[in-house]
Amino acid sequence: MATLSQVQARISEACTLTAHTVDEVSLIAVSKTKPNEQILNLYNEGQRIFGENKLQELEVKSPALPADIEWHYIGKVQRNKIRKIIQYSNWIHGVDSEKLLLAIDRVAGEEEKKPNLFLQVNIDQEESKGGFIKEDLQEIAEQALSLAHINIVGLMCIPSPQENAELVRPSFKALSGLRRKLELELDISLPFLSMGMSADYHIAVEEGATHVRVGSALFGARNYTV
Ligand SMILES: *Cc1c(COP(=O)(O)O)cnc(C)c1O
Repeated sequence: MATLSQVQARISEACTLTAHTVDEVSLIAVSKTKPNEQILNLYNEGQRIFGENKLQELEVKSPALPADIEWHYIGKVQRNKIRKIIQYSNWIHGVDSEKLLLAIDRVAGEEEKKPNLFLQVNIDQEESKGGFIKEDLQEIAEQALSLAHINIVGLMCIPSPQENAELVRPSFKALSGLRRKLELELDISLPFLSMGMSADYHIAVEEGATHVRVGSALFGARNYTV
């Protein structure tokens, strides 16, 4: 486990190798399974961005915690839960199908919202994982840009786990390249890249991540049995 300032320092150090300054990188403290008390500890140290992956946790935590927390939804989105998810979170990281994209746009329109979405890319082409394949990205991004009630802000990936964090670097590089390619092909600005977790966030930042999702390094290991 590391302290908030240690994680921030590591992000800052990684930024020296990039065009980003440290305040251009958002640290998402992934608080899934963790109690409000621990979230408040980080809040009191200045942390304002937190990530959850289950609606049932988000809808309990969000109303009980300070209103200036920016909640990011990083889990799989079930279509019947969209309305509630966008009620609590203006940032959705795991948009992984065309159906979901269209459904979010429709519900957001009804709710008069315009959530920020990341398109999830199945960067290592794993059968077990969701996300768009790179061949489909241009078409899906074009479609997403035509929708009025969502804001496509970037790409997200969850690379396959590796023994050595350095081995994840090619996947981060690949996502970064895909973003640049889309920007050129579609003549758009796609400002954000959501990549990097506790074991490899420093490498992700070196490769251009603007949003790192860090859980266990800040909160300790998760216990799913309680
Ligand atoms: C849980 C989770 C994280 C955080 O993982 P750690 O290894 O604990 O940092 C990041 N991204 C997603 C999508 C997650 O579900």
